[in-house]
Amino acid sequence: MSQNIQQHIQQLRDELREHNYNYYVLDNPVISDYDFDMKLKQLQELEAKHPEFYDANSPSLRVGGEVTKNFETVVHESRMYSLDNSYSKEDLEDWEKRLKKMVDGPIAYTCELKYDGASMNLTYENGRLVRAVTRGDGFQGDDVTANVKTIKSVPLQLRGDYPNKFEIRGEIVLPIEGFHKMNEARIEIGEEPYRNPRNTASGSLKLQDSAEVAKRPLECLLYSLKGRDLGVNTQFDGLQKARDWGFKVPNEARLVTSIDEVLEYINYWDEHRHELPYEIDGVVIKVNSFYQQEELGYTAKAPRWAMAYKFKAEQVSTRLNDITYQVGRTGAITPVANLEPVALAGTTVKRASLHNADQIAKLDVRVGDEVFVEKGGEIIPKIIAVDFTKRPEHSQPTTYIAHCPECGTALVRQEGEAQHYCPNYNGCNPQIIGRIQHYISRKAMDIEGLGGETVALLVNAGLINNYSDLYELTVEHVLPLERMAQKSAENLVHGIEASKQIPFERVLYALGIRYVGETVAKKLAKHYKSIDALAHATTDDLVNVDEIGVKIAESVVAFFNSEENRTIIARLKSFGVQLELSAETLANQTNKLEGDTFVVSGVFNTVSRTELKKLIEDNGGKVSSSISSKTSYVVAGDNMGPSKKNKAVALGIPILSEKEFLDMVM
Ligand code: AMP
Ligand code: ZN
Repeated sequence: MSQNIQQHIQQLRDELREHNYNYYVLDNPVISDYDFDMKLKQLQELEAKHPEFYDANSPSLRVGGEVTKNFETVVHESRMYSLDNSYSKEDLEDWEKRLKKMVDGPIAYTCELKYDGASMNLTYENGRLVRAVTRGDGFQGDDVTANVKTIKSVPLQLRGDYPNKFEIRGEIVLPIEGFHKMNEARIEIGEEPYRNPRNTASGSLKLQDSAEVAKRPLECLLYSLKGRDLGVNTQFDGLQKARDWGFKVPNEARLVTSIDEVLEYINYWDEHRHELPYEIDGVVIKVNSFYQQEELGYTAKAPRWAMAYKFKAEQVSTRLNDITYQVGRTGAITPVANLEPVALAGTTVKRASLHNADQIAKLDVRVGDEVFVEKGGEIIPKIIAVDFTKRPEHSQPTTYIAHCPECGTALVRQEGEAQHYCPNYNGCNPQIIGRIQHYISRKAMDIEGLGGETVALLVNAGLINNYSDLYELTVEHVLPLERMAQKSAENLVHGIEASKQIPFERVLYALGIRYVGETVAKKLAKHYKSIDALAHATTDDLVNVDEIGVKIAESVVAFFNSEENRTIIARLKSFGVQLELSAETLANQTNKLEGDTFVVSGVFNTVSRTELKKLIEDNGGKVSSSISSKTSYVVAGDNMGPSKKNKAVALGIPILSEKEFLDMVM
């Protein structure tokens, strides 16, 4: 029996590993996401029932959950060197001359892309990932294994014919598309977007909660093997071997035999780098033969056998025609540089970000200036400097606006914040429109038949001023709007009516309270159950709710402190919008288990594990996956794992049978 289960677990692990590899390394999935999730769920359930078959490298652990408070410092077995830089053909030719003085015979080179991210050293023993360490100062770095394990393209178990023990180095990057998605989500909850993929990737590695890292679309691109008896003699073959063992090694590497060919490779990628899914900042050229590499050795800082070629950050100069100021949904002001259109990095650039008042002052940038614009790590081009030699006579320093460009209200800037805000929450057009657009958006009220542009038209026509006004719109009201036909007017009104059925947690998200994203809205809805209860919560009450921090708590309290907001909510209520959990949801909820933490283990007869966990949560309890001194009860079904049982007994935690537990909640 136990033998069979162990085999079954092993088989699921193998299958999932294979699917992960197909999906994340080869970009070639062979089963649907749904089927993958079902298999994963099956494995998770089996593993929970059989903790005796625990495996630190099981694919089920990809979702993270381990929390690291302090990252341990680890000394690298072999130093992680830096690279020397070159910028021209001459630099490379000089390098080759130096090489030829030190080694005999022809020299071949492996050309690789220089991935722009955070460097990483992975250690494998017996085919299993045992450690992931950041570069740090090159001699020692931080152990970030728990976080790196959540990156799906990092193999936890190797395939094929791998050496017993070796290290492999690579770069953790955040592909551009994933970076944009993360920023969209941040903007939606009123947070500042991240500046660039590189810093976001390295910042991610130092997050304390690995479950948060798991949510980020990071990738690990490998480029170098370290160790004895690797079974390869050249860099190029090493890359192929690493691929065979299951690592993600980009296919753009080329083996060449002259500096001219190196230059061809460089020129090609300088021009085509924007077609890659991730950012590169140059090319790395490596002497291919390991034997020659050994002959060449290292300087104090870098290998003599490798050379980086850094692309020039693409830069142009153009005229700054005007500075305008945008007002966001949260009232944040962003200064925007309007430029004389100019070609840069494959696109025509007309605008660049100026970030905030401090940035403008630091650059001393003025309308009429000739400015240098760069598209480096940043996605939005930025102004890096002014060409002072071309500054027009009589030019005037830029004075940052003191009043909102949309509504004229005096701007405020909070202590410690970089951004200015327009505080006219209820009277400033872009804020009004932005909030209603958020309210109707797909993840919020998902109002069919009403789009963002129509919202602007409705506001500008004076028909609505906040989202509660939507519910008084009639077909006759909206028909006179531009491009509005009878049918679309009816659809719009119908869509608004239908939104009255949207459940409370989504309404709460739709309200657009700063920092209250989808997840936080769910938590708050579940905990407070109604808008009235939430409106009465103090900051202290709120921070006591699991995972609600001070920033969120203060923002919620401020929202309900506003008289206008309270009026709007009263109106929503009068129209029949869902402002509390439905009777059906509530009927199944109590506070009976409040303050108690449960660990569920084993198989159950009358309810499934999922149902059991839901019962705990619906009754106010918390479910945790591992037993600790904080556990209140263990609910044990048949076949509870012996290690869990021993631990519970040792800590004196009461073990409940299925029946005893059900009696508690029924
Ligand atoms: P630098 O930080 O400019 O001294 O460049 C050295 C860094 O480039 C290394 O620490 C690696 O993290 C990174 N790098 C990116 N791609 C490669 C590659 N293909 N080969 C070697 N190093 C690379
Ligand atoms: Zn304003």
